[in-house]
Amino acid sequence: MATTAGVYRNGNHSRNSQSTSNNKVEKPLSFNPNPKKSLKSKSLPGSGLRKSAPPSLGTAKDDTGVPGRVRVAVRLRPRNEEEMVADADFADCVELLPEAKRLKLRKNNWDSDTYEFDEVLTEFASQKRVYEVVAKPVVESVMDGYNGTVMAYGQTGTGKTYTLGRLGEEDTSARGIMVRAMEDILADVSQETDSVSVSYLQLYMETIQDLLDPTNGNISIVEDPKSGDVSLPGASVVEIRNQKSFVELLRLGEAHRFAANTKLNTESSRSHAILMVHVKRSVKGRDSILSSETGNNPHMAKSLKPPIIRKGKLVVVDLAGSERIDKSGSGGHTLEEAKSINLSLSALGKCINALAENSSHVPIRDSKLTRLLRDSFGGSARTSLVITIGPSPRHRGETASTIMFGQRAMKVENMLKLKEEFDYKSLSRRLDIQLEKLIAEHEKQQKAFENEIERVTTNAKLQISESERTYAVELEKERLNYQKEYMESIKKLEEKWGMNQQKHAGGENIAGLKDESSNWISNGEDSRVANMEELSEMKTKLQKETLLRKAAEEEVNKLKSQLAELKKSEASAKSDISKLQKKLEDEACQKEKLEGEIAILQSQLLQISFEADETARRIDKGSYEKVPGSLDSLMLQVRQPQNNDSGNGEKASIAKLFEQVGLQRILSLLEAEDVDVRIHAVKVVANLAAEGFFLVLYQHFASASFYGQHQLIQNCASSDLLSKTNQEKIVEAGGLTSLLMLLRSSKDETIHRVAAGAIANLAMSETNQELIMAQGGIRLLSMTAGSAEDPQTLRMVAGAIANLCGNDKLQVKLRGEGGIRALLGMVRCGHPDVLAQVARGIANFAKCESRASTQGTKNGRSLLIEDGVLPWIVQNANNEASPIRRHIELALCHLAQHEVNAKDMISGGALWELVRISRDCSREDIRTLAHRTLTCSPTFQAGMSRLGIDY
Ligand code: ADP
Ligand code: MG
Repeated sequence: MATTAGVYRNGNHSRNSQSTSNNKVEKPLSFNPNPKKSLKSKSLPGSGLRKSAPPSLGTAKDDTGVPGRVRVAVRLRPRNEEEMVADADFADCVELLPEAKRLKLRKNNWDSDTYEFDEVLTEFASQKRVYEVVAKPVVESVMDGYNGTVMAYGQTGTGKTYTLGRLGEEDTSARGIMVRAMEDILADVSQETDSVSVSYLQLYMETIQDLLDPTNGNISIVEDPKSGDVSLPGASVVEIRNQKSFVELLRLGEAHRFAANTKLNTESSRSHAILMVHVKRSVKGRDSILSSETGNNPHMAKSLKPPIIRKGKLVVVDLAGSERIDKSGSGGHTLEEAKSINLSLSALGKCINALAENSSHVPIRDSKLTRLLRDSFGGSARTSLVITIGPSPRHRGETASTIMFGQRAMKVENMLKLKEEFDYKSLSRRLDIQLEKLIAEHEKQQKAFENEIERVTTNAKLQISESERTYAVELEKERLNYQKEYMESIKKLEEKWGMNQQKHAGGENIAGLKDESSNWISNGEDSRVANMEELSEMKTKLQKETLLRKAAEEEVNKLKSQLAELKKSEASAKSDISKLQKKLEDEACQKEKLEGEIAILQSQLLQISFEADETARRIDKGSYEKVPGSLDSLMLQVRQPQNNDSGNGEKASIAKLFEQVGLQRILSLLEAEDVDVRIHAVKVVANLAAEGFFLVLYQHFASASFYGQHQLIQNCASSDLLSKTNQEKIVEAGGLTSLLMLLRSSKDETIHRVAAGAIANLAMSETNQELIMAQGGIRLLSMTAGSAEDPQTLRMVAGAIANLCGNDKLQVKLRGEGGIRALLGMVRCGHPDVLAQVARGIANFAKCESRASTQGTKNGRSLLIEDGVLPWIVQNANNEASPIRRHIELALCHLAQHEVNAKDMISGGALWELVRISRDCSREDIRTLAHRTLTCSPTFQAGMSRLGIDY
């Protein structure tokens, strides 16, 4: 143990007797003196992080982070009852000088060693103060998107659990760090956009147990070989919405811990308890590093800009007691057990020694604890350590070793890094919603068209029949009138005529008999006058009749012309109808195109995330690797199409690239000897294969709001052509063959990943799918799937196979060459993006198979069932990730369509899932499909009644 004065750079330790204190104690960086203020100021306290941090990853290409030393506070437990009695005659072995942040460890009555810490907490320090100086700055960093660790170290019984884990349900002032941290976190997150989730674990004898799920007994640690990020995919993760549920969870964890330890016949002081809190927040606006990187990019339309999320992780570790376990094996432990129990703690000590001494080798891999905490010590997290000691002189040895541990930990420098990334998932969700809106809008318009046509047609028909009816009625009325009047006047004329005849006859008789000339003359004159009068009367009547008839004829003519008019309007209504029908057909055609686009967009989303990962990886590496000659500039141009300012810049740059370098040359570089050159060449090809895609997306959504749908579809069609042309060029130049060869010949996983990404992209076209199959692509992809470790590689490979699964013609061959087994093998990685691709592949395959069965080109059991896919899909049918679940639900529905599969599905437990889907699935079409299948299939019906399912 080094006790030389002044050897510690941070001045942690100085040896001085009580009388002389000449040794200068260099002051370490202090804890944030006023943590309250800083919560709102959003700066990382104590390090001036924002000021010294590189403002942008994008411009500086440097994400080494900012230095942040591990902070150490010491906390003294008050004497307990036993010590009051046993140590009554002795002084405490330590003396605290909290103002000076120093601690004196008594050696004997006249001599002591003095140590300086970041904070010295006396036996009177309240839990609130301990939280504020030890944990609050860490919690604030986590809220800002950094990782953080709070850890307690010390002998059993000195107050580690008291400091970290007290629930304080009876006395709120007694609440420990875990509870207080969650209170601060929940107060600061937004329920709508952010999420908080926790895992709670115990590490004992190098086995990690899930304290939230006691059946989960041996959880493995997964490390991302590139980023070094550590995760525990097997651990339960519970979303926290309020403080009450969190406290419940802690209590549950505590109960499980007690039960587990009883079973293992040990005490909790022998195990480490680890609480992990994941805080995911979405960043709106300016202060984000990523947003300032893309903020001045005119090509990034607003709607295409992915939101930014910050993911902070808080780890709270209640370590096992630091006292040495009796190596003789007493206390119920064998020597082996004792070694194993000690392993993680002693490994932690070794790592901290190595880090404190800047040693080139830090034995992180020696234990599970050090692997779990690799980010906390010497990593990118903000770390705060509280060492707990007791006052009793009887434990002076343990107290001294605890103090030395703290002193060494103070010398560990971390590099704090912001965990910020684009939220491609939510962008994809947003794009999905936008697409759905467009489709709905389109359907609404179509419906409106149909209604309009119907309305015009019925109106026109009604008008015509109405006019015809009025015309007929009027005509009939006129005819009757005319006839009546005519008959009346004829009758009158006849009467008059009769009367005249009579008059004439009477007059002649009188003349013949009397022969009195004067009378005769006078009589003759009278009757002639009367006759003349009658005649003129008749004439006027006749004239009147003629006039009436003329008027009636005019009326008839008028009605006739009205009828002609109406006929004309009927004809024009008919032509309107046929025009509208034509429009309707056009709309239907456009809808089809739009649906095609959706399919392309969805599979190309795969490419976006691929790009994102590549960017992230690039940023991780800190700078571009060196690539010789024109390939270097080529890379930059391909990667940064946004540097051009015109909308056609990308098109132009690619064309220029072809001219300058030539596709053939790029392809020849795929076989270059230098691995770096090879990697870059694959990346260029991958970019070319995807080129045009960003433009498609950009135009698609940027134009959606400005132009109508028509324009939108044209845009998409032309951009799609552009990207197809590139893909064709690559394939024609033998690029596909070269990419496949790379999968076979290269051992480098980066090459595998990028090549698989490019193949996945090419595999979106049917012609390419056949080519890939013909060249043994499935075997190569399966091989890559078997050896890959990086989830991103697996995702690319799974994406490629999933695309091939959607080709009707390749089903049998794909299966024969092990494609399905390869897909299934990739679920071992557990990454949700990989699982989503696997599920998509299975759904694609099931769909084609179902189609073939319906058409009668396939019979017998599903090849998916033959290859043992059923257990996995049943297990994941209700997966909480919606893309996985949706694909699996579809796959199950397709499989259930055919009776040959029913028996296996029932025995494999799929029937329960089908019933659930038919009841709860959020998509109505899937729900209906499942319901129809269940009601139509006699086997399922029998199965349900046997299982007692009431359907
Ligand atoms: P550890 O987890 O280090 O083994 P505990 O937290 O279980 O220690 O503490 C041991 C005992 O000491 C408990 O009864 C606890 O209530 C008490 N204790 C610890 N620290 C304090 C403190 N600062 N004030 C009062 N009691 C304390
Ligand atoms: Mg404890």
